[in-house]
Amino acid sequence: MVQKNGGVVVKYQMKALIKERKMQGFSLKEVEIPRELGPNDVLVKVLKASICGTDVHIFSWDEWSQRRIKPPQVVGHEFFGKVADIGSNVSSVKVGDVVTAETHIPCGKCLQCRTGRMHICKNLKILGVDIDGVFAEYVRVPEVVLWKLDPSIPEDFASVMEPFGNAVHTCAPLDMRGMRVLITGAGPIGAFSVGLSKLFGASLVIVTELNETRKNLAKRMGADIVLDPRKDDVLSSVSRLTEEDGADILLEMSGNESALIQGLSCLTNGGIVSILGVYPSSVTMDINSLLTFKGITLYAITGRKMFETWRTASSLLKHNRIDITPVITHVFSFEKWQEAMQTMMSGHSGKIILNLE
Ligand code: NAD
Ligand code: ZN
Repeated sequence: MVQKNGGVVVKYQMKALIKERKMQGFSLKEVEIPRELGPNDVLVKVLKASICGTDVHIFSWDEWSQRRIKPPQVVGHEFFGKVADIGSNVSSVKVGDVVTAETHIPCGKCLQCRTGRMHICKNLKILGVDIDGVFAEYVRVPEVVLWKLDPSIPEDFASVMEPFGNAVHTCAPLDMRGMRVLITGAGPIGAFSVGLSKLFGASLVIVTELNETRKNLAKRMGADIVLDPRKDDVLSSVSRLTEEDGADILLEMSGNESALIQGLSCLTNGGIVSILGVYPSSVTMDINSLLTFKGITLYAITGRKMFETWRTASSLLKHNRIDITPVITHVFSFEKWQEAMQTMMSGHSGKIILNLE
């Protein structure tokens, strides 16, 4: 059954990738389209979605997902699409608008939300983690998280705006002009950060990475030097490349404890570290010598600022200030989701996009 709604075709059933059972894997199934809209809800036709490390955790059914996910649940959170229907109170978007969305859904009521810091809401819900996600033909989201996109932004770029936003949130607030930046880990977000650091004026961008595919991503995004901690003496190389000073700024993008400690060892006194990486367990380090006595400034980054980060990210992409093509390494049709997940888990990829058009 098909109904026309403002030029957008709306069906009653849709294909969705679901975490069906409390075990490894996903299933592609026909399910009901979430057509019941509350006054502030928006139904979006998903056009492209991209796979995140979080989706791999949920697929593998690791300890974190066993605690957090309540199957059955539609997975996925990075996407762009077109508005298909709106609730009675919705006024900021209309049917047919091209949109992406912040994946962190704020409560709007806690101290943080009410003081302009929705991205660190105390009652945060995450799309595709706590509520049904975007690996589906349609997704229902609250109006507050939607971000309207200029249709001139290339579709592949639009579908990775969320992880690109993580990199923008980390890099944009730092004054990088003339700075020597060290980035530990060149996964997609580290690789985006290479390009952003160059754009924001860094004089030298050094990357540490173990994986050959990712080393290449870093180079293609403009890294001046890529070091391999298993082969190179990172500390003395950074020292030599920075007139024995050490790096001015460290962006920790690996989520690996030894990369964090190595990166901090490479920082100059008075340097800045910005940590985006998420560590699988507690980190043990000598705070006195690595941070305190060096007078290091530490920033911890979560999500994206709502919506300063989105404004910056979309403006940079719209005006072609940065080319993120190298980071998008694969596009699969939705039906080939298994191949897409396997490629993602092989580590030999950057961002992988699922095409739902
Ligand atoms: P990713 O896992 O794809 O990339 C991490 C990279 O670090 C990999 O390429 C890996 O080879 C490399 N690495 C591992 N050990 C290393 C070492 N010792 N030295 C140098 N490099 C090393 O992740 P991503 O999607 O690019 O995200 C980057 C990090 O940010 C991850 O830890 C992720 O969990 C985290 N993250 C945080 C937020 C947030 O809001 N704080 C949001 C998204 C992702
Ligand atoms: Zn809140």
